[in-house]
Amino acid sequence: MTDELTRLDRAHHLHPFTDFKALGEEGSRIIVHAEGVYIHDSEGRRLLDAMAGLWCVNLGYGREELITAATEQLRELPYYNNFFKSTHAPAVKLAAKLSEIAPAHMNHVFFTGSGSEANDTMLRMARRYWALKGKPEKQWIIARENAYHGSTVAGMSLGGMAPMHEQGGPLVPGITHVRQPYWFGEGRFGEGPLNDAADPSAQAFGRDCAAAIEARILELGEDKVAAFIAEPVQGAGGAIIPPESYWPAVKAVLAKYDILLVVDEVICGFGRLGAWFGSMHYDLAPDLMPIAKGLSSGYLPIGGVLVGDRVADTLIEEGGEFFHGFTYSGHPVCAAVALKNLEILQDERVIERVREDLGPYLASRWATLAEHPIVGEARSLGLIGALELVADKAGRARFDKSLAAGNLCRDICIERGLVMRSVGDTMIISPPLVITHAQIDAMVDLARDALDETARRLSLQIAHGADNRAGNVSETQERHI
Ligand SMILES: *Cc1c(COP(=O)(O)O)cnc(C)c1O
Repeated sequence: MTDELTRLDRAHHLHPFTDFKALGEEGSRIIVHAEGVYIHDSEGRRLLDAMAGLWCVNLGYGREELITAATEQLRELPYYNNFFKSTHAPAVKLAAKLSEIAPAHMNHVFFTGSGSEANDTMLRMARRYWALKGKPEKQWIIARENAYHGSTVAGMSLGGMAPMHEQGGPLVPGITHVRQPYWFGEGRFGEGPLNDAADPSAQAFGRDCAAAIEARILELGEDKVAAFIAEPVQGAGGAIIPPESYWPAVKAVLAKYDILLVVDEVICGFGRLGAWFGSMHYDLAPDLMPIAKGLSSGYLPIGGVLVGDRVADTLIEEGGEFFHGFTYSGHPVCAAVALKNLEILQDERVIERVREDLGPYLASRWATLAEHPIVGEARSLGLIGALELVADKAGRARFDKSLAAGNLCRDICIERGLVMRSVGDTMIISPPLVITHAQIDAMVDLARDALDETARRLSLQIAHGADNRAGNVSETQERHI
């Protein structure tokens, strides 16, 4: 069965974010079933899924209540749309529930099928808002380098991933990127760790990054800028937690000018940071919040944009018809599952547990990995975390790119039964929010073993020098999102 699937996969299936040819040569890992925080492959191996699929399976795998919600809704009404003055209970109830859990000034939602579609939607809404306000020249969106906002044309234009920009352009006009608050990667080397209160340099760096937004606003002209978009913590960019100084400084800049704040909550929403939304953790008051992923714990595809009163009131009162929507906007089965997912998060106090128990516990265990000889920084917030692999701890020097240390470490993790992702030489985790203390211990132990083995193989390769190294370059920099 595995061989047949592998053959058909190679023959017919173009995977997302994949070097088709390289994968054809290597073959893919086939996942057959899953429960809790574990996935099982067709070779009969069990892996601890420290990525919750793609940052989305917040309640873990195999939740009967979600399965029941889907099957009951499929029987009742498998599909109807929300166009032309019709709707159905699942979409309405989900909209009301989202308004209940969102920040107080956000009381409307526009549904989409994915996070990318949510970002396309917010782009149209932000520009439409300003047009309705009599300022149609307010068009520019300021986004950030190394951000991820999806893979549609608008999503990838808003994102700041250079390899994506190089393919399939030209990009959507009127989008510009400023520097990211990535202290370990772009701060001044040799200075203290992130958010070390005794070391002011990371905090100064955070303020510098916020100042870059102000500089860009002044360069473009306040009357030309529609919105600033950012993830509270960058996910696909490498689980980048900004210095504590960053968001308050960004808030101050945006308050000074009349510019909408768009907070992309596709990863940070629904409990990842120990609050319903990353915006609540950082005390932001966004005008628009794209959501997806954890909204349904990934069981079915659904996304949306939560809309603040300022924008919603204008679109409703002055907008007339908004010529935008998707066949599956507010799909009844997806909405029913999302609603049940939110009810479980609420009833089981999952988010409170992330904030008060699991997040702090992970932080204490994860921090022990910072002592490892090839780890330059171990950071986490709520249930998102990263390790920075380095050749030299003191100088924060990276391994030679040709060693592809991150990919090597990821493959070793998988050999050992752990799904941990690599973004360059940054290792990232984002486990289901239902992970237990014992499973966190197991995850950290597996990660430590994998780091030992990575260090061992890297030192062998370095010792063997350039000849052997050449054989290792085949792996192109993969960017799984
Ligand atoms: C995954 C992601 C998206 C895109 O969502 P899709 O459902 O894959 O289209 C957008 N923004 C962020 C922050 C994401 O992580």
